[in-house]
Parts: sequence; structure tokens; C-alpha cells
Amino acid sequence: MDLKGQVAFITGGARGIGRSIAEELAVRGAKVVLGDLNPEEAAGTAEALKATGADACSYGLDVSKAQDVEKTFEAIKNDLGRLDILINNAGITRDGLLMRMKPEDWDLVINVNLRSVFLCSKEAVKIMSRQRYGRIVSIASVVAFMGNPGQANYSASKAGIVGLTKTIAKEYAGRGITANAVAPGFIVTAMTEKLPEDVRNQMLASIPSGKFGTPEDVARAVSFFCSPDTGYVTGQVIHVNGGMYM
Ligand code: NAP
Repeated sequence: MDLKGQVAFITGGARGIGRSIAEELAVRGAKVVLGDLNPEEAAGTAEALKATGADACSYGLDVSKAQDVEKTFEAIKNDLGRLDILINNAGITRDGLLMRMKPEDWDLVINVNLRSVFLCSKEAVKIMSRQRYGRIVSIASVVAFMGNPGQANYSASKAGIVGLTKTIAKEYAGRGITANAVAPGFIVTAMTEKLPEDVRNQMLASIPSGKFGTPEDVARAVSFFCSPDTGYVTGQVIHVNGGMYM
């Protein structure tokens, strides 16, 4: 797959799965633009990518804030002149059983994980429609399909991404824009490292392949949807979970 001349914007690209996706797309020739809450961390990752020969840059933004998102897409348009690929990857957890979940934690997770996909995709399709080409890939989760005790906010946000993805796919298929999602299972990153050992062991026991996934496993599935050759694949979800959910 050749992505030379293409521009890819990856939210939450400073670390974890987002960073892996940036590396994967950069290796294929795309210019990667990292958007992250922590501008220094994002700039550091962009520098590290550049040291490997990649074409990379970064912007600091809070993906849940409309003003930040609009400003960043304006900057991408002015500085880079185009946008071919949007990866909606930024996400957080604020776990707790439903009865104890604070409304603030519900709102925060829905805003960072789902509102952000609405805000970023809305700006992206404006640019992509004019180009008559675009690839939008959003990172959902296995819990959108299975549910998970303690993750009412998170599982709802990820299920929302799936519905939103299908609607974007239908609205923009005629403009050469595809919208798809990747639903990871348990992937080893900072997000999952903070889980207690007994929860991790319980998870492991439910994975037929007998191991946790890596950010690279997710990045390879994402790159499939980013290919210029997969334009007839839209509104779909690829599950990357070692068989945990089928
Ligand atoms: P991670 O290591 O915690 O990285 C998340 C990245 O998103 C960080 O760079 C973080 O920035 C950034 N971010 C958080 N809030 C943001 C905001 N408001 N605006 C901009 N950037 C923000 O997480 P990960 O494990 O790589 O997860 C990436 C995606 O995969 C998430 O959507 C997650 O829900 C999904 N996912 C992960 C797993 C898993 O097992 N790890 C499974 C299923 C789905 P800071 O460093 O500044 O906080």
C-alpha cells in the first residue's frame, strides 16, 4: 500500500495505539499529523518519528472541545493543504459501577471518546468532500459489543462510535469517503496497564489465543481501511481481539 503524498491526522497519536498507527502509516509514506492533549508529548513523538525518516508534525488539542478541533483542522488545511486520512483514536476510561458512576465521569468519557469523533469527522468531511477522497477510521472497542461491568460510560461511547461510523459511511460514500471502525480487545498500553492484576488475569482467561494484543496488531487492521484499494469497504468493523468476541 502506497500512501505517498497523503496526509493522515491521528488523534491521541502521542503514545499507545495512536503512536503505532502513526508509525504504520508513516512507513507507507503518509505524512502523519499527531493531535494530542499534551502538546510536548505529541511534539516529542513527532520528533522520534522524524528521526526514523518519517514525515511528521503535531498539534496540541483537546478533541472534545469544538473550538480546539476547528482550529486544528483549519491549521491542517492551511499548513498542509489536504487531509486524506482521519484516525479517531483518542480515548479515556473513568470506570465505576453504574450505581456509583458520577455524571461528570459519564460526560467526560462520552465527550472525549464520542463527541470527539463527531467533531473531528465533521471537519474532516468538509476537506475530504472537496477532494472527493477520504478515509475515516475510528477506534471502538470489544466492549461496545459485549458490555463490561464498570464501563457503562466507556461501552456506551464505543457503541456510539459504531452507529456514527455507519451513518458517516452512508452520508459520504458518494464522495469517495469511507468510514470504518476497528474494535480492539485487550491491548497492552498505559490504558490497560493500570488495571488490577486479577482483572488482567480474568481477561486473559477469556482470550482463545492466550495472549494480549499489541498496538501493532491494531495498527495493521487500521491500515487496511486506509488503503486507496479498499474504497468499496465502508461502514464496517474489524475486530482485533484474539478471538475474545466473535
Ligand atoms: P492511551 O495509551 O491512554 O493513549 C491515549 C492517547 O489519547 C494519549 O496520548 C492521550 O493523551 C490522548 N488523549 C486523551 N484524552 C485526549 C483529549 N481529550 N484530546 C486529545 N488527546 C487525548 O490509550 P490506548 O490504549 O492507546 O487507546 C487508544 C484508543 O484505543 C482509545 O480510543 C481506546 O479507548 C481504544 N481501545 C484501547 C484498548 C486497549 O486495550 N488499550 C482496547 C479497546 C479500545 P495524554 O497522554 O495527554 O493523556
